[in-house]
Amino acid sequence: MTLASQTIQAIAVSPGIAIGRVMRVRPYNRLLEPELQKIDDVEAEVRRYRAAVEATRAELTALQEQVRSKLNSSDADIFEAHLLLVDDRTLTAQVEKNIRDKHFNAEYALFKAGESFARVLGGMQDEYLRERAADIRDVAARIMGVLTNTVSGEIGLDDRRIIIASTLSPSETAQLDRRKVLGFAVETGSATSHTAILARSMQLPAVVGIPPELPEKLSADDKLIIDGYTGKLIINPDARTEEAYRLRAQAAGELYSALERENTLRSETTDGFVVQLAANLDSPDGIDEAKRNGAGGIGLFRTEYLFMNRGDLPGEEEQFEIYKQLLVACDEQPVVVRTLDVGGDKFNTNIYRASEQNPFLGLRGIRLCLHERRDILETQLRALLRAGVYGNLRVMLPMVSSIREVIDVKSLIGNLQRKLEQEQREFLSHLPLGVMIETPAAAILAERFAPLVDFFSIGTNDLVQYTMAIDRGNDRVAYLYRPSHPAILELIRHTVEAARAHNIFVSVCGQVASDPAMVPLLVGFGVHELSMPPASIGVVRRVIRNLAMHEAETVAREALRCSNASDALAISEALLRRSSPEIVNI
Ligand code: PEP
Ligand code: MG
Repeated sequence: MTLASQTIQAIAVSPGIAIGRVMRVRPYNRLLEPELQKIDDVEAEVRRYRAAVEATRAELTALQEQVRSKLNSSDADIFEAHLLLVDDRTLTAQVEKNIRDKHFNAEYALFKAGESFARVLGGMQDEYLRERAADIRDVAARIMGVLTNTVSGEIGLDDRRIIIASTLSPSETAQLDRRKVLGFAVETGSATSHTAILARSMQLPAVVGIPPELPEKLSADDKLIIDGYTGKLIINPDARTEEAYRLRAQAAGELYSALERENTLRSETTDGFVVQLAANLDSPDGIDEAKRNGAGGIGLFRTEYLFMNRGDLPGEEEQFEIYKQLLVACDEQPVVVRTLDVGGDKFNTNIYRASEQNPFLGLRGIRLCLHERRDILETQLRALLRAGVYGNLRVMLPMVSSIREVIDVKSLIGNLQRKLEQEQREFLSHLPLGVMIETPAAAILAERFAPLVDFFSIGTNDLVQYTMAIDRGNDRVAYLYRPSHPAILELIRHTVEAARAHNIFVSVCGQVASDPAMVPLLVGFGVHELSMPPASIGVVRRVIRNLAMHEAETVAREALRCSNASDALAISEALLRRSSPEIVNI
């Protein structure tokens, strides 16, 4: 029996549209509880376990090679993490202890150890560590498969289908055959999970956050539409909806192919105003994608991801090599590296000393670096100063709210430069320094910050959160989260004016920079650059190339007079609809 027609709002993690029937998958990484057996010859059982680990290692190495040849090397690196877990001494020790002390059979010993590790990780505040719980279960389930001699996780499909599962592990995702799978919808995960990263790399439309009971309710006869742009999952659509989505998918495909061919065109308005387009990256792995989309540099490199998923902190040499790689790969294009922005929802248990009641209002970003972990900032700045000679480096400070913070960092940079000189090291003698404008204090005091720095980058993700007093991760107040709110527009206008008055560069690097409906407004305010996820650059380039600056300026002026977010957005959207109807309709 098929389910009634309905639409579920999930979370979009990989763009595109998929239409097809359901394939339910029993997840690899659901570590099912095996039968407990008591073992007498514990040493033989330990040997059996070790042999299974050995076989799993060989299986993973083969899989890694297979993925490396099909996808890019960063996707194959995920298996590196799994291989490390297979060899994890704490896990092995716990399994062997369970066998020797409790006389558990290897399967049960592994289940107990794997589950307890996964539970500990699953309870961590650091999102990255929480997601590693799935990796532990994935690896344990693999070893279990070898122990029980069962091949799991192979997805045998006869026609192309949409995968529905409670979770899909990275290794399952990587094994999906693009010729057989249209896309997937899963219950758990987030846009930063490895599974989502792989889905984007494989260009499979995907959503996460579907209701937990849904996979059990759906059967092979149910038809689904995955809208990887908006996060909608439509179950058994009526004929009209399906046809509309088919047309949309076709149009989107044609548009994206056309946009890719435009990646060398200048991002300028019809009346000749250039707006730079840059990429937001979390790791150097994104450079190729940024180049493919014709990014004019890196407008935001979020360094906090270099500090996550590890037990130690990256040292000066390690960071130096990463920044150098980034700068060399970008030739002479500008690369804006942001100093560590840990805090808020980005945790790292190695760095924090105490948990906070309101982490978004706590020791985040530059506050943490100046107040409690100056050592981290010093190491990072030394690495940056040294790497800076290899390209066009700019450094940006996050979460700035007072002038003092900038003065402190500048004096620290001066000291570090003197030290590097004494050490006779090569370093950048003028390091262009900028601040994120993401607190209302920084926006209001923009005229006073401007003479001290070389550029501003407006971080609307946080500027909205702090100005409107809305936790950016809280779905209960998400309805209030409107970047076109008059208070935000006023702060953007004010910041751009201050930058222009002091002749410094001003960029926008929050999510709004990639929202086609907001682009006319931002261009009309006169920002010099929009920085965004690489995949969005093509669309924004087209929007800008279809815009006339004088019209964008009129829109910005009119929007500033609006008393609510919807009216302001509607004005910008109306211009988008007139100038780029093909973009509005995807
Ligand atoms: C922002 O706040 O807009 C921003 C770009 O930084 P992040 O999303 O990393 O906080
Ligand atoms: Mg921010």
